[in-house]
Amino acid sequence: MQMWRVILLSIANLYFFQSFSQSNYWQQKIKYKMDVHLDVVTNKINGKQQITYTNNSPDVLSRIFIHLYYNAFQPNSMMDFKSRNSEGIVIGRDRNGSIVTDWDPRFKNRIIDLAPDETGYCKVLKISSNGHDQKMKLHETILEVDLDKPIAPGSTVVFNTEFECQVPKLTRRSGRDNAEGVRYSLGQWYPKVSEYDVEGWHADDYIGNEFYGVWGDYDVSLTLDKNYKVGATGILQNPSTIGWGYDAEGTPLKEIPGRERTWKFIANNVHDFVWAADPKYKHFTRKTVGGPLLHFIYLDNPATEAKWQATADSCVMIYPFMAKNFGPYAYPVYSFLQGGGGGTEYPMATLVKDPSFESAVHEWCHSWYQMMLGSNENLYSWLDEGFADYAEARVLAWLRKADFFSGAMEYEYYFRMARSAFDEPMSTPANMFNSNLAYNTNAYYKGAVFLRQLGYIVGEDAMQKIFLEYYRQWKFKHPNPNDFIKIAEHESKMQLQWYKQYMLYTTKLIDYGIDSLWEENGVSKIRIKRFGEMPMPIDLELRFRDGSKELHYVPVSLTFGDKPKENNEQRIVHNEWPWADYTYTVEFKRRLNEIKEVEIDPTKRLADIQRRNNLLQLTW
Ligand SMILES: [Zn+2]
Repeated sequence: MQMWRVILLSIANLYFFQSFSQSNYWQQKIKYKMDVHLDVVTNKINGKQQITYTNNSPDVLSRIFIHLYYNAFQPNSMMDFKSRNSEGIVIGRDRNGSIVTDWDPRFKNRIIDLAPDETGYCKVLKISSNGHDQKMKLHETILEVDLDKPIAPGSTVVFNTEFECQVPKLTRRSGRDNAEGVRYSLGQWYPKVSEYDVEGWHADDYIGNEFYGVWGDYDVSLTLDKNYKVGATGILQNPSTIGWGYDAEGTPLKEIPGRERTWKFIANNVHDFVWAADPKYKHFTRKTVGGPLLHFIYLDNPATEAKWQATADSCVMIYPFMAKNFGPYAYPVYSFLQGGGGGTEYPMATLVKDPSFESAVHEWCHSWYQMMLGSNENLYSWLDEGFADYAEARVLAWLRKADFFSGAMEYEYYFRMARSAFDEPMSTPANMFNSNLAYNTNAYYKGAVFLRQLGYIVGEDAMQKIFLEYYRQWKFKHPNPNDFIKIAEHESKMQLQWYKQYMLYTTKLIDYGIDSLWEENGVSKIRIKRFGEMPMPIDLELRFRDGSKELHYVPVSLTFGDKPKENNEQRIVHNEWPWADYTYTVEFKRRLNEIKEVEIDPTKRLADIQRRNNLLQLTW
């Protein structure tokens, strides 16, 4: 009896466990408690971490991997090797006729030329698991830790580390003394556990591109020279001892005895932590309607003051539009920190080099695409950059009351790559692209074209639903392209796997053209031809000599569904185009000699590589 019960129970457990692990999403959970000291003379960070790691996977983990990004800023690192051995691809000539490459030659020796006290490093001096010291093996920017006791599924382990970093002189994203004179821009600055997900470990070396992290909670105490002012991911926990606008608007930094001061920040449900520090920083806040308190922390400089204020005002204006279209920003605060080498996104904060409104919008859009919807940036850089580019363009078009579609440069940049010999599939991991041209174009522009063109296929009303549903289902998780496309399919009631497959895994091109027009037995006919390899549905506009027009829609058989009418426009829906066929004949009622123009894709959302043959103008 006893025996039988035990066996039955274990079979039941096994069954439950397997069905859970196969059909249900899981993700790891981490908590960082960090005590950190920054010496502003030696530029060294010494810290202690208590890392509470919960293995929610169904797998036993016998080792963990830790990112040590600052080790990339060493002569002869892989990032240095890549810098010195890339001449870049010739992408054109400038006004003076000189060759322009996709690689800025100023970057070439940026790491090899660093003096020893300008390089960066991050050393884990000691790591223990539940009190026992663990064996470590360093692979440049990845520390492998072999565990004496594997982490069982569903269990939690506490790691304690002691670490020392030297903050590099800023050459890329993170470091000290950037071009604008900010003393510390600190991204990717601490030992950070790699993500383990359904695909396994993502122990990606840092050679220049992109990040991925474990969802978790950060409790960080930062101690440094008391005259330095700090902005960071999260909410300041000790505003009454800091002052400086954190307790009430416009208050000064509080006088305290001693030489140093500690800033305590807490950020929950994020996957990274950034901070910036400078004695010349200024700080003001702006409240958005129904959204976060925005912090602006930047170098005190009369020349840029008005620009920071204007950017702040515009950020307040755009928030309701962002929340309505992409979902509410889920944290109470967001900080724009002047620093870095351009703009780099982090949870609840960004490093931006100047008060440019466009880059502020772009980086803030990353709060949705990567910071709340935490896709793997190395594997799917377009889910992060392409989405942020698209969201930024939507926001700016709305604010400026401009047409979102006409003249979108994203298509031109994508076409430039597609026509070159350097195109690579958008599914290439960020670190594996052969050229900057292919990485940038795929991540930013083809990624944005993917979305703009999806609107062409499913209609703009469905696009809005797709974005909100994507947010609802995947915020605080790790969505991948398939998760997005399944939502797009559900919201549009169309089949879209083919679209994902062509756009991601191939470099096949779209090219449709008007082939011929004729009349036969009193019926007018237009033949459209597919010249490209990738099939698409067709919007066809007929413009008549009397000024009237007709919109024709030819669905493609792959979608198993029609795009709904857009803007209440009258249109004529034809039978679906069997996708493999090269030609399709559209019939229409009016006489041929009434036609003035025929155009494929009048809204310019189709990524048609050769738009010249899309328009036919007739002179009678
Ligand atoms: Zn971006």
